[in-house]
Amino acid sequence: MLKNDMLEQWDRESFFHPSTHLAQFARGEAPERVISGGQGVFIEDRDGNRLLDAFAGLYCVNVGYGRSEISEAIAEQARQLSYYHAYVGHGTEASITLAKMVMDRAPDHMSKVYFGLGGSDANETNIKLVWYYNNVRGRPAKKKIISRWRGYHGSGLMTGSLTGLAGFHNKFDLPLAPILHTEAPYYYRRPDLDMTEADFVAHCAAELEALIEREGADTIAAFIGEPVLGTGGIVPPPAGYWEAIQPILEKHDILLIVDEVVTGFGRLGEMFGSSKYGLKPDLITIAKGLTSAYAPLSGSIVSDRMWKVLEEGTDEFGPIGHGWTYSAHPIGAAAGVANLKLIDDLGLVRNAAETGGYFVNAMKTALSEHAHVGDIRGEGMLCAVELVEDKGSRTFYDPAGKVAGAVVAEMATSGVIARAMPQGDIIGFAPPLCLSKEEADRVVEVTAKAVKAVL
Ligand code: PLP
Repeated sequence: MLKNDMLEQWDRESFFHPSTHLAQFARGEAPERVISGGQGVFIEDRDGNRLLDAFAGLYCVNVGYGRSEISEAIAEQARQLSYYHAYVGHGTEASITLAKMVMDRAPDHMSKVYFGLGGSDANETNIKLVWYYNNVRGRPAKKKIISRWRGYHGSGLMTGSLTGLAGFHNKFDLPLAPILHTEAPYYYRRPDLDMTEADFVAHCAAELEALIEREGADTIAAFIGEPVLGTGGIVPPPAGYWEAIQPILEKHDILLIVDEVVTGFGRLGEMFGSSKYGLKPDLITIAKGLTSAYAPLSGSIVSDRMWKVLEEGTDEFGPIGHGWTYSAHPIGAAAGVANLKLIDDLGLVRNAAETGGYFVNAMKTALSEHAHVGDIRGEGMLCAVELVEDKGSRTFYDPAGKVAGAVVAEMATSGVIARAMPQGDIIGFAPPLCLSKEEADRVVEVTAKAVKAVL
């Protein structure tokens, strides 16, 4: 085994880490942890620390670490056929089986799944499909996409533009022109504290209508949203939000892309957030929970009505000019098949609802009364604790999230990993769906202790 100090040197000399303060890292001021193993909800680092990962990596290791059913399926696939492409009608047993399993679980009106590698490229695919759809239908002007402030949809040029978080735009000249943003459904941060939840929903709907009117419905192709805002702060929508938004989209012939990269395959306590909130998407983005991150794989699930137009388009214009070398990679697909089977066999969707609900309630019991805890919210196996300087005015301690960062660092010293969310002082939790009640208690206990130590 390589010595830790040698790895550290190579790391600083050679490795460009994503989403990292590069200068601090180079100076040795940013945290560095080399992860060497994982089992259940725990990971281990090379210094021998065992940490309860209450963020499941990046909300993706849904079945937990170290599942031999998945690693064996991957090894078997690699032995038998490590790669073949999916162009011009090719498939593998794994990719075809996974497509069938995904479609068996997707809402009834969905038709086919296109496989990519990660959530960002799946949303790039979605934008291209929306544009193709409108071009084939003879509406070339209908191209703009509406996203929400605080939405997270990836880090590419277009998907980074969809993302409504300033930290992902800074100095990259984003967002690009065809992307527009509207109000985030974030009731705790409503513009006027006197607004009721119903008033706020009406406000979000009015903002959307006004934007559509300003730009012209004939220029707007699609609206994209996560059922529950994830990276933007783990924010379940106010009651009635989606019921108010969907009819506006229908009225203006605007497609709905539901980004289920975080919520897909059980995290909200239902297979998809779309079913939970009664959504009728034209496209669904899937990634993370599709393979529980045992291998990179994503998907764009296409509705019947879009599929029909895509088929017509190829009859008129030839094969669809969109594909990645690694689309439907057999190793990712084998991981996906084993993963979806495990989610069913272990009853993880039910556990996300039951233990997730228990977890959020326990967090409320432990911390609601704290003078600097403004909001505790969650849905299924997602939870957020929002810190404020003053509970009445709801002022952020630090919009860059430094206080949440300090709490999360303190928690790590007690063996629990949570995430300081990228905008606002918000501590985020998204544990593996197999979390037990005892493990949930441990996370709550460590969080409460750390919040009290820092504040
Ligand atoms: N969409 C959502 C809702 C996400 O949370 C993420 C990543 O966190 C993405 C898209 C982008 O996925 P990836 O990082 O796999 O490109």
